[in-house]
Amino acid sequence: MRIFKFGGASTKDAAGVKNVASILTANNSNDVLVVISAMGKTTNALESVIHHCYHKTGEAQSALQVVFDYHNAILSELFESSNLFGVSDIKNLFLELECFIDSPNFPEDYDFLYDQIIGFGELIATKIVSNYLLSQGIENQWVDARNFIITDSRHRDARVQWKETEKVIQSRLMPIAKKNLVITQGFIGRGNAGETTTLGREGSDYSAAIFGSILGAESITIWKDVAGVMNADPKKFDNAVLIPSLTYNDAIELAYYGASVIHPKTIQPLKANRIPLFVRSFLNPTAAGTKVSDENSRIEVACKIHKDNQLLLEISTKDFTFIAEDHLKEIFQALSENKVRCNLMQNSAIVFRCVIDSKENKHEPLVKTLEHLGLEVSVKSQLELLSIYHPEGDFEAAFQSDSPQKIVLQQHMGNSVHYLLTAGN
Ligand code: ASP
Ligand code: MG
Repeated sequence: MRIFKFGGASTKDAAGVKNVASILTANNSNDVLVVISAMGKTTNALESVIHHCYHKTGEAQSALQVVFDYHNAILSELFESSNLFGVSDIKNLFLELECFIDSPNFPEDYDFLYDQIIGFGELIATKIVSNYLLSQGIENQWVDARNFIITDSRHRDARVQWKETEKVIQSRLMPIAKKNLVITQGFIGRGNAGETTTLGREGSDYSAAIFGSILGAESITIWKDVAGVMNADPKKFDNAVLIPSLTYNDAIELAYYGASVIHPKTIQPLKANRIPLFVRSFLNPTAAGTKVSDENSRIEVACKIHKDNQLLLEISTKDFTFIAEDHLKEIFQALSENKVRCNLMQNSAIVFRCVIDSKENKHEPLVKTLEHLGLEVSVKSQLELLSIYHPEGDFEAAFQSDSPQKIVLQQHMGNSVHYLLTAGN
């Protein structure tokens, strides 16, 4: 059994959906489980719907209309009007979403509300792909991932309950997946009370890894709009080159520092089960792409990874006394409680520095907590993180070729160096 994952870019229009169908046909897909995320930029569009719902701006329906129109355009290109195969199924999902938004008992918890709405992107996308494949004579079974990915109820960043998930995938999904091409959603799961949960933005790769590791897949393939894992973002650097193979550990490091080609949580379950991961281009589907496995393959080229939208928190005591172990304990506790991940940290005698992603005011509650503890916090924004891996440790050379942005913070760690820079253009 193999797992294929197609992200939003691969199904962003009708031609993309047709391309997915031809990749499945060319790859003899009877034993494939396909994980699909929301089409194009649907997740962002649904985030806007959620924003309008939560803040009761009265514009939720018109934001939703944008999502409908986008999918309807794809539908009408895929299914001629005389062949409205399965489309009522999809219309029903739209209706469900509309009714949810109109309902008088609107959830008040933002993260909970978010998860109840956002997953419709994946549900609609998989229904469209599944029905299109059927219309082309490609038999497949659509399944609801929420029946199989069992999580806790930490909304927007749910943690997988592995025991329950394993049990239900092995007993209920395995028999279906052995016999059919299965189409299912990435990103979504089911929480403690039966509600929809999500695994965090871009979490569909992780879903593919969960399904693959429990089903004992022979491989996972993530189909992307790039040739594979590159040594730099090919959209930013013309001279980016493909890394044909890398180890799980190298892939974890690169993903952690923002190589957006693979979601960071994806590799762990694959490494534990020694399942190879292929990253291949859906634009050039016969090319080999990148293989991530436990084969001993050294990265030969310097890798540069950019992470935009970074914030630097500088934390000190009010009277500028030393930052002691007790303070560090409190700071880490505050980070954990506020679900804020530290991308880079540095400690000097009187200041603890911590670099975090800048997400919709997510840092504000953290700053409040820290201030409550009697700590002083200054926040610097509009920064980016550049991480460089160099097999020979020649970081200077790799950094030199970049535009002259100001270095705010610099840190060496083994075979990598991390620069926090003022944002470029
Ligand atoms: N559709 C979700 C997102 O855009 C999940 C994913 O793409 O993996 O974040
Ligand atoms: Mg997506």
